[in-house]
Order: sequence, then C-alpha cells, then structure tokens
Amino acid sequence: MQPRLRSLSFLLSSVLLLLAAVSTAPSMAQVYVGRPKLIVIVVIDQFRGDYLNRDRDKFKGRGFKLFMDQGAWFTDCYYDYANTKTAPGHATLGTGAYSDGHGIEANDFWDASRSFDRKVTSVEDERYQLVDLPASSLPANQPGAAADAPRFLIGSSPRNLRATTVGDELRLATNGLARVYGISLKDRAAILPAGQAANGAFWIDNSSGQFTTSTYYMEHLPEWARAFNTSGRKEEAAREALVEGTTQFFDLVGRMPAANRYELDFARALIAGEKLGQNGVTDMVVVSLSPNDIQGHQFGPDSGSEEQMILSLDRDLDGFFSWLDQTVGLKNTWLALSADHGIAPIPGDAEKLGIHAVAVDMQKAYAALNAQLNARYSKGQDVPYLMPGPDLPYIVLDRKAFEKAGVDEKAAEDAVAALLPEIITGQVPKPDGPLPVQHRQSPAPQVAGVYTRLQFAHGELPPSEWGRLLAHSYADHGNWFVMLVLGAYQMEGTRWGGTTHFSPWSYDRHVPLAFYGAPFQPGEYHERVAPVDLAATLASLAGVNQPSAAVGRVLTEALKPIGPAGKE
Ligand SMILES: [Zn+2]
Repeated sequence: MQPRLRSLSFLLSSVLLLLAAVSTAPSMAQVYVGRPKLIVIVVIDQFRGDYLNRDRDKFKGRGFKLFMDQGAWFTDCYYDYANTKTAPGHATLGTGAYSDGHGIEANDFWDASRSFDRKVTSVEDERYQLVDLPASSLPANQPGAAADAPRFLIGSSPRNLRATTVGDELRLATNGLARVYGISLKDRAAILPAGQAANGAFWIDNSSGQFTTSTYYMEHLPEWARAFNTSGRKEEAAREALVEGTTQFFDLVGRMPAANRYELDFARALIAGEKLGQNGVTDMVVVSLSPNDIQGHQFGPDSGSEEQMILSLDRDLDGFFSWLDQTVGLKNTWLALSADHGIAPIPGDAEKLGIHAVAVDMQKAYAALNAQLNARYSKGQDVPYLMPGPDLPYIVLDRKAFEKAGVDEKAAEDAVAALLPEIITGQVPKPDGPLPVQHRQSPAPQVAGVYTRLQFAHGELPPSEWGRLLAHSYADHGNWFVMLVLGAYQMEGTRWGGTTHFSPWSYDRHVPLAFYGAPFQPGEYHERVAPVDLAATLASLAGVNQPSAAVGRVLTEALKPIGPAGKE
C-alpha cells in the first residue's frame, strides 16, 4: 500500500472509530428497542391462587379473563418460603429472589444497627421525609406541623432491599432511559417491587388518602400527581365507600372496592403524566392493589365481601386494561399478574368442617415463656427476655437481657426453642363434658417446628423441601431470634377474630401467576411454579440481566416458539 493511501485509510478508520464512539450512547438504548413500550405488573395484596378458578364463570370482559383466556395462566404458583408477609412478597416479585436474597423477611423488624427501642418498618428511612402532605397530616417531626400533630412520620426508601429488581435492570440496561414506578396504598408495596433505581414510588397518606412519596425519589410531587390529589377524586372514593369526610382513609376506604378504582385511576394519571410507553425503550409500572388485604383480614377468604371485591376488581381491571389498549396499545404492552401471599380461612370456619384450625393465644404463651426464662436465669425477677411485639413466624429475643444474665446466643435460642412447644401445645381445650363425649371437640394447638437463628445461619435445617422453605426465609438484622411454625390452619388469635397469613403452609403460599402479551403462548399451565419466576421471565424476555439475586426460572413453556430469524 502506498504511504499516501495508508494514511488515507488510517484517516478513514479513525473517522469510523470516532463515529462509533459518538453513537455509543444511543446504540446502547437501541439494543432494547423492539421490546414492549410498557410492562405493567399488577400485584393484588392477599389474593390466593384458587380465587381465579372459584369465580371463573362470573368474570366478564377483559379483566381477569384477559389473562385466563388470552394469556398464559399458571394455576399452581407457590411461594417457596415460610414468611408469607406483604413486604417479603412484594420484594420477591420484583427481585426474583427470596428473603435470603433480597433481605426483607418481614413488614417490620428489629434492626440492631438502627434501634433497640423500636422496630423499623421494611422501608422507613429517617434520612428522608414524606412529600407534599396535607397540613392536617403533617407529623410532629416536620416543619409547619400543628401543635397536636398526629404522629411521627418519616420518609421511606428501598434501603433494606439487598437485591435489584427487574425494573432496576431495565434502568441499568438503558442508562436510565427506561422509567420505572411503583404504586400502592402501602409504602412498602409501592417501593419494594419497583426497586432501588425506580423513578418514583407513590402511596397514600393514611388519614387523608392523598398520594405522597419520599424525598428519596423527588423533592415535590409531579404536577400530574398534585392535580390528581386536588381533583376531588379522593373525596369521590370516600363517598363511594359511604364514609364521606373520613380521616381514616386507609382503614375505611382502603378496605372497599372503591379504593381499587382509586389506585387504578392514579395509575392512569401516572402513565399519562409521565408519558410512559413513549420513550423508545421499555418502561415499567408495578401497581399493588391493597384493598383485598385490608378487608380479607377481617372477613376471610370465603366471605361474600371477598367475592364482591373480586368481581368488582374484575370490572375495574377490564376498565384499566381497555384504557391501556386505547392509549399505549395492548399490542405494545406486557402484563403480569400475581399476589404477595395467600390467606388462611378464619379458624372458626375451618374448624366447623373438622380441620384442626385454632386461634392460639400467643400472648399467654409469651408470658408463660418469659416466666420460665426468669425462673431459669433471673429467679424472682421479671426481666423481659423477648423484644416487644413478636410477629409470627419470628420471635426476637432481647439479647441484652440474656447477655446480662450471662447467657449466649446458642443457649438462649435453644432454651426458647425447647420451651415453646410444650407451652403452646399445653393450651388444650377442656372437653365440654365427661369423656367420652358425643360430639366433636375443639382441636388443640400444634407446633410443627421451632428453628433458631443459629440453625439458619449455619445451614442446620432439615435436608428436605421443608428445610429449603425455611432457609429461603432467612435475613439477618443483627438479632437473636427463633422461627415458630404452628400447625396448619393455626395462627395467633386476635381480639377481633379474623384471619391472617404468615406461614409455610400452602394456603398462605398459593398465589396467581399470569402473563399477557406478544411473547406468551395463551393457555392454562399446571406446572408448579413460583413467584420468583415472574421477574426471571420478564428479565429474559426484555433482554436484560437477571436481577442481582434472582433464583427464578424462565417460564419457557409459556413462550411462543421463536423462528430461525428470531421472529415470532
Ligand atoms: Zn400483603
């Protein structure tokens, strides 16, 4: 090659290199074009997997039937862990990991690095504050609060989330071009499934029902959110719930179908206001619908009000999906549906059928346990050896009290684990007549197992499916604790009756899992799958990395065949 030609070709290759460098930023985003404009994940708070089957014949339009008739519907999706609560469930759906991966094991917990005086919630963060609250709700710790300010309210963030979400991975893959949001009535349910890098998470101020967020995300609410708050929509929701003018919006409106509509209307305002699905990349919204949980705890899964809620939600989802079709277009959208946990039947209802269902008096059990610990370690005293407010499945020990008595973690946890079963199973109901009686007697409390933190930390759990469930529930916040598993259909009894979810039993772990969108092969799938598969599948289809701790499986059985040219 002539010297002149050589220098020309050098010049040409330099220009090409330069052009390539200049175009790097947009081309990174281009890699992900051709994916959907928008992914919407609908999470129903406390929605058991069997509900869809139960009310199938009553669904109309394109609500649940969009998933069941035109989408890929998995009928047998079960959480693979033992701590079936709201915060861990939402974190699991976003991250595709369990508590041992994402670090959220409960709605609130004792965090030794932050406080020995009170529990922290899974998302509270004193470094931030809530945004644009109405004057009536300003708590005592914020400027401008009234003299009789209601309570101490601090900001929230995903600080405890140790894993990324599928939304975070979309953000990373597009250099932040993809926009990701979370919505719920509850802060934890808006924040945790959206992730660390979410553009925003919105939830309500409990008394007024006004949507708020935290300075972790933004200094002020966006214009569209402020307009929504002043539009009269929250007053309309209160009227629909027949509690006009209420100052207990979360409790009184939140448990009614009107609150699902309220949340879905806020989702529309968000999608329109932020122009989601119009950014040339895949945007994402997670909408967690809280009302079913609030009323479900009170009335149980088999009540008429549960069915009313489900049928009403079916109509509201039909309206929301039709609106999405007219705006973003359903052909440009992928939808996913799941729940954060199931629920047990009300113990009295199950007992009537002969199930060994019991509402256990745990307050009595904790008092007896503490008395026996005092007898052993501090005779004649009344030292509290348990941290206040135990919330099954976890019972947190007061390590300072044990240390003062010269008892180490192993001895303390082993003592509690050894004492608890006898204390609980000792609550045997008295027969209502001389034995043998002529009719069925109330069942007795059972203990399926008690496991110490050290057993979790050292992997000393049973080498079985059961042990795997337990291991997935472990997250360490610097405390000593034991996990108590009561018998199936048994739970802590409350003054007001009702029911709850917290256990490794199937009714607490069974949730729906369904997808709708171009890549999914419509059908009813009966494989045993898990909620961690939701994030794994969406990440794979979106062509991004799996979230950092994801253990879910890509549900390839529900994908349409891909042709040789990579086309459907
Ligand atoms: Zn929940």
